Amino acid sequence: METIETDVVIIGGGPAGCSCALYTARADLKTVILDKNPSVGALAITHQIANYPGVSTEMSGDDLLTLMRDQAIQYGTDYRRAQVFGVDVNGDWKTVFTPEGTFKAKALVLATGAMGRPASFKGEAEFLGRGVSYCATCDGAFYRNKEVAVVGINKEAIEEAQVLTKFASKVHWITSNDPAEDNFEAKQLINQENVKHWSKTRLMLIEGNESGVTGVTIKDRGEEQKQSLALEGVFVYMSGSKPIIDFLGGQIALNETGGVLVDDFMATTSEGVWAIGDIRNTPFKQAVVAASDGCIAAMAIDRFLNSRKSIRVDWVHS
Ligand SMILES: Cc1cc2nc3c(=O)[nH]c(=O)nc-3n(C[C@H](O)[C@H](O)[C@H](O)COP(=O)(O)OP(=O)(O)OC[C@H]3O[C@@H](n4cnc5c(N)ncnc54)[C@H](O)[C@@H]3O)c2cc1C
Repeated sequence: METIETDVVIIGGGPAGCSCALYTARADLKTVILDKNPSVGALAITHQIANYPGVSTEMSGDDLLTLMRDQAIQYGTDYRRAQVFGVDVNGDWKTVFTPEGTFKAKALVLATGAMGRPASFKGEAEFLGRGVSYCATCDGAFYRNKEVAVVGINKEAIEEAQVLTKFASKVHWITSNDPAEDNFEAKQLINQENVKHWSKTRLMLIEGNESGVTGVTIKDRGEEQKQSLALEGVFVYMSGSKPIIDFLGGQIALNETGGVLVDDFMATTSEGVWAIGDIRNTPFKQAVVAASDGCIAAMAIDRFLNSRKSIRVDWVHS
């Protein structure tokens, strides 16, 4: 597998990650953004963003994010779609693990947002890592020729279910509502030979034994009876707000609200690692705040890597 060395790796391509990349790339630092999915972050799912300074009040979050990403790329950022599943922050080189390859950076920036959610289905927490997963891209291959369930109706659920159709013998897609009429991706998924769509259906229970998940209990909204499905994997994609820190393996200090702890320069307690945006779990989760964090971290990183005494600004007085 590929190993890539670079100056800065930014995990997460939301407004925090993209603004940080814009500044580090413009400061001539070799910058890589690793983003699991440009459509699932908080800004990407924002229907209309009326309060980002300087852009049309009609603009969608997705369109604004595309502008930010394109601008970072235009200045040299290497944007890659990859889900980070682990990091090693020991030593001068920080290592980042993805299914697509390993990245080594002199500066690591955490910008994965707060779209994580506490386990809410019965059995979800108990079987997490033993059949329950939040990442088909990482774990899909474990379920070759096995039956799995995907729970959720958002874009991420649909895309991840598509990934699983390549491995699993059957993908049970469980949604509490019908997808919208114009949801082309959902239609494509339902038309796959090995997909069974359980619409207007709730997941009641994830069952298993010491070797892992063995099945789920579901209930159709219009039926009295519950139903059991025998399967070995359950992939859960529900929305909610909780800093995404699972890939950190407890290596980075958190604040009392569960966000990553930083100083005024967005530096974490681990030298060479910064955290920006909603992953800090600030009380003011706004795109403009996330973008501002990204700028602050980038300037601090430039100073750190170039041993500058003062921060180099990105503008010149005329
Ligand atoms: C429904 C909704 C409406 C909102 N409306 C507004 C609004 O009108 N105005 C406003 O200013 N703010 C709004 N916000 C808040 C704003 O969107 C967030 O504060 C902002 O997007 C946070 O930016 P971020 O970069 O920290 O995180 P995000 O935008 O969530 O981006 C995080 C990125 O990290 C990626 N990622 C996550 N895990 C991994 C991983 N393991 N590996 C690689 N990549 C990963 C995700 O795919 C995503 O692209 C809204 C939020 C929501 C949920």
